Amino acid sequence: MTTSIGADQIIAKRKHYMFPCTSHFYKNPPQIVRGHMQYLYDDKDTPFVDFFAGVSVVACGHCNEHITRATIKQLETLQHTSTIYLTQPMVDLAEKMASILPGNLCRTFFCNSGSEANEGALLAARLHTGKRDFIALEYGLHGRTYLTMSVTGIPMWRTDPNLDPNVNFIPRPYDPNVSLEEAANRSIEALRKVLAEKGDSIAAMIVEPIQGNGGIIAPAKHYFQEVQALLKAHNVLLIADEIQTGFGRTGKMFAMEHYNVVPDIMSMAKALGNGTPIGCFSTTNEIANSFNKPSASTFGGNPVASVTAMAVLDYIENERLVHRSSKLGRVLFNGLKDLQQKYKWISDVRGMGLMVGVELFANDPEQGAAAVDKVIECMKNRGFIVGKNGIHRNVLAFQPPLVIHESNIRRMLSSLEDVCAGEESWSYALSTK
Ligand code: PMP
Repeated sequence: MTTSIGADQIIAKRKHYMFPCTSHFYKNPPQIVRGHMQYLYDDKDTPFVDFFAGVSVVACGHCNEHITRATIKQLETLQHTSTIYLTQPMVDLAEKMASILPGNLCRTFFCNSGSEANEGALLAARLHTGKRDFIALEYGLHGRTYLTMSVTGIPMWRTDPNLDPNVNFIPRPYDPNVSLEEAANRSIEALRKVLAEKGDSIAAMIVEPIQGNGGIIAPAKHYFQEVQALLKAHNVLLIADEIQTGFGRTGKMFAMEHYNVVPDIMSMAKALGNGTPIGCFSTTNEIANSFNKPSASTFGGNPVASVTAMAVLDYIENERLVHRSSKLGRVLFNGLKDLQQKYKWISDVRGMGLMVGVELFANDPEQGAAAVDKVIECMKNRGFIVGKNGIHRNVLAFQPPLVIHESNIRRMLSSLEDVCAGEESWSYALSTK
């Protein structure tokens, strides 16, 4: 094991050798050196219960033995050739994907990240429809390549000032000032308008079933069915970005299942590799058949990533993690709702399964963002890693590994209650506002 250089040195090296766009959470960030299931450990071997799972990635737990063993065995057998040659893990995984995907989604293209999966999904839509443009939701996040950044609607993640101008953004189906129903109807009306004007040039609409980075926003139940009906009438495909929501995170294998909608194309990444880079997009026979010009990814579907993903899917199934996410999600959600009753500055608790957001000071987002930073710092000092997101960065994000225990959740809730009760120094700053 290499000697630990400590958090300060890591920050200094990041500043010196990396790009300034690389940011980190916390005033006093720990150096994370190892992980085991729902726990992370710093260089002093202090344990933290991980309630963010690297943004929905480590669903099966850090260094899960079952998965790590499979990965190591494959590393020792065959690490890489190329999709030009025939290897079995990739096709086994493609077959497995077809068995878990909803409806008639049965063909999969493998790549290495979420951005790449969405980029491929958008290309597939163009190739199939022969059209060029896209529709996306305000405050969605789909990646950091040119096209995926172009369909990203969160201003802070639109880094390139010269993005594709042919993306039509419509309001997301959420507005804190109106009901979910009403917000969904407004978004649908906007969609109707765009389609009437420009449907002939639009290839696809891309959505996150539940916006992750945008603050954990789940639309009203009828939203996606109505969206899909409108899109179909204009020969526009629906792409579901399940990169954050897929593989049990929301209490269903895929979040679109909550809405009884099968998208035309689904993009996935994150939890599929449980920490090993892998991404993919899946679609129908018909759409896949339109993607017939040569296209290959050097590492996409490599034996190590494929075997790892296969072990992940087996583990999710054998340990019934989808059910677990739904069951423990209720414990988490109800506990956070109870806290909301006590503190009026907790504006909202929302989400599904083990993907729950808690918005602070909705009517003063700047104060909310400061409060979130203080809460996550206090929680870290008490041994809990909690995430943050939202367009104003004023939402606490709870997205733990699905292997988390009920006792971890209850202890976290009790610590959060202490923090909210103002035992910590930050409460003074808030109370003086
Ligand atoms: N889509 C969603 C919904 C995401 O949350 C992310 C990453 N946060 C991406 C796409 C991009 O994935 P990656 O960072 O693996 O490229």
